[in-house]
Amino acid sequence: MTIRSSSKCCYDILKWIPVIFIVGVLGWSYYAYVVQMCILTIDNVPKKVIYLCIYHSLLILFLWSYYRTVFEPLRGPTREFYIGEVAGEHISAAQTVNERRTALVRLSRETNLPLLTRHIDGSIRYCFICRCIKPDRAHHCSVCEKCVLRYDHHCPWTNSCISYGNYKYFILFLAWALIFCIFVAGTSFEYFILFWQNVTNMEQTQNHSMSSSGKFHLLFLFFVAIVFAISISSLFFYHLFLIGKNRTTVESYRAPIFTNGPQKDGFDLGFKQNFQEIFGNSFMKAIAPIFTTRGDGVNYPINTMILEDLEQQSRNPNRDIILPLDTPSSSINNDRNHLLSGNTNNQ
Ligand SMILES: [Zn+2]
Ligand SMILES: [Zn+2]
Repeated sequence: MTIRSSSKCCYDILKWIPVIFIVGVLGWSYYAYVVQMCILTIDNVPKKVIYLCIYHSLLILFLWSYYRTVFEPLRGPTREFYIGEVAGEHISAAQTVNERRTALVRLSRETNLPLLTRHIDGSIRYCFICRCIKPDRAHHCSVCEKCVLRYDHHCPWTNSCISYGNYKYFILFLAWALIFCIFVAGTSFEYFILFWQNVTNMEQTQNHSMSSSGKFHLLFLFFVAIVFAISISSLFFYHLFLIGKNRTTVESYRAPIFTNGPQKDGFDLGFKQNFQEIFGNSFMKAIAPIFTTRGDGVNYPINTMILEDLEQQSRNPNRDIILPLDTPSSSINNDRNHLLSGNTNNQ
């Protein structure tokens, strides 16, 4: 084994540390809540049963969503986006930007790829590492070392790319984790108060049945639940905002560039449609960690106004457009037909 491969192996193991940390905290909190609080501290049997039932239901949904976020296979560009070794070397060897742009435009036309977005310099988006033309909204992840469809960000807490294939699971993971933490904090609050009363009142300490280690577990259980709830909620509500606008985290910082320029709301179809694009139409299926995200990760419907603008641009060759080498009229029309027909394939 070479030094390079052994250091990569160590790096791959280190990447799992945040996941192991979350599983460890969850394991300890299970002991603190179920054993120390429900079994050893609560005397009222109906209350104990209700707490345990709700706790385990939320825990299953939380763990299920987390598992699918972590282990869902990454979805990369489909085969037609990969240009092959010879064409890849030709593009890498291009002497000028214009030469490379021309070669990429020719390649994308030959394969009739549905591309509406462009690189910041106006060329077709291309990954030199994967040797592929990047589909709309796809980006290369330097941690996963591959191009990923509808790339949002790489999450160290799940050791996976949050992207087209697992974005819904990630949102559900945040939602169920938040509800789970609020439930744990809410139900352990009275025992947390009991602990403080015991600290300030020695007589009560002697009378109450809680052991000192039990107090320690319940005190930290409440604190940990509150800290996790606060950190998860900021991320969760930020992503709800992004879904409402149909933007990825990358697109919220850098607007996608269409042939008529950068358009921050290029993929915005309206609040309801934007949510349905991620979660599907059925509410019951939407809240379960099963795949209901629409489309294929390559074709995306775009904002009607942007689409009309693109069509107008394609009909008016004299219009001042930013990308002289880009998509011809026939390609825009093909893309549009593809996008509209793509809607009927949706979940
Ligand atoms: Zn790549
Ligand atoms: Zn990644």
